[in-house]
Amino acid sequence: MDADFLIIGGGIAGISAAARLSELGRVIVLEAEDVLAHHASSRSAALYEPRYGASAVVGLSMASGDYFRSLPGVLGARGLMLVGKADGVEAFEHDLQAMAFDRISVAEARTMVPILNPEVVALAGYASHAEDVDTDLLIQGFAREAKGRGAQVLTKARVSAVTKLDGGWRVTSAAGEFTARMIVNAAGAWVDEIARLAGVRTLGFTPYRRSMARIPAPGGLDVSRWPMMFGPGEDWYAKPDAGALIVSPAEEHLMEPHDAWADDMVLAEGLARYEEMVTEPVTRLLASWAGLRTFSPDRVLVIGRDLREPTFFWLAGQGGYGFQTCPAASRLAADLIGGRTPELGADLVAALSPARFG
Ligand SMILES: Cc1cc2nc3c(=O)[nH]c(=O)nc-3n(C[C@H](O)[C@H](O)[C@H](O)COP(=O)(O)OP(=O)(O)OC[C@H]3O[C@@H](n4cnc5c(N)ncnc54)[C@H](O)[C@@H]3O)c2cc1C
Repeated sequence: MDADFLIIGGGIAGISAAARLSELGRVIVLEAEDVLAHHASSRSAALYEPRYGASAVVGLSMASGDYFRSLPGVLGARGLMLVGKADGVEAFEHDLQAMAFDRISVAEARTMVPILNPEVVALAGYASHAEDVDTDLLIQGFAREAKGRGAQVLTKARVSAVTKLDGGWRVTSAAGEFTARMIVNAAGAWVDEIARLAGVRTLGFTPYRRSMARIPAPGGLDVSRWPMMFGPGEDWYAKPDAGALIVSPAEEHLMEPHDAWADDMVLAEGLARYEEMVTEPVTRLLASWAGLRTFSPDRVLVIGRDLREPTFFWLAGQGGYGFQTCPAASRLAADLIGGRTPELGADLVAALSPARFG
């Protein structure tokens, strides 16, 4: 066999797994594109908000905090502000509770973000526990770690066939044929396609597009210390980004796996929801893009050996949490593959296991 572990997909899921699995054996990563992290992993809002998502996702995100904090420069102070209108009390109260915000006055909110429109914004909450993640530093760090232990990380290596062998797999890719004892399926929006290629039952993953616009700093203000802001029910959000502001309509539009791009109409509608809350109009876009957030049927990540094909390992369904969960997710993958007792609790491991889909 060429490798112990062959990882399909060079986004944050695959590359973090490569770092952890390189501690256990020979690793090959096959990435279809010219560079690592071409798809979802280069299009995120780069936030670590450990209280975001279903409880198993929160468990993984919380368990990832220590790793992030052990790496200088990966996390940066940001904060998160919830801003609502008078007619949106129910959704506001729900988010306030769910994500442990402190209720603050609109006047206090305006001391942090002076462009909030006091005639429209009636409700505000603030949480300091959300932080920026330097996603590039993270990806490069994992890649360096994996390569340092001898992992082969190959780009331009789209996988086109996966064949079961005695005691392993043969994988045909644009970079050649490889054999391995185990396959780790970390192909993002394409995970069910990889399962199909391998003759493994698909689990019903759904990629949803989310668009993003970068706009100049409103009113030419220094936005660098503003918190990320979002509307109740997550119907828009805005975040400082390299001296500008990124604004997302926060849509979830079902898509086939593909190289996603922003929908102009959806973007315009989302920008209008943001604009309604502020005093500075959006005058132009600096850039726009979109990415696919891929969810399992219960919106929780899927981490574990396939129930019927135990040498086929799922590392899938990262949804909107792929960065903030990657340290604990990749550690769990290595624990399960290496036969170690997982550091995470048994209930959490079960909630993440593909076995839950029967
Ligand atoms: C707008 C937006 C905002 C987000 N904000 C956040 C955030 O603030 N915080 C957070 O934690 N997460 C966020 N996310 C989610 C995060 O970006 C994703 O969960 C994460 O990037 C998924 O990583 P991945 O490695 O699973 O998928 P990907 O990055 O898509 O990687 C999968 C890789 O598999 C490769 N592949 C597919 N098929 C094949 C094949 N046949 N052969 C070889 N390679 C193949 C693809 O080319 C791709 O590079 C956001 C996502 C979006 C779109």
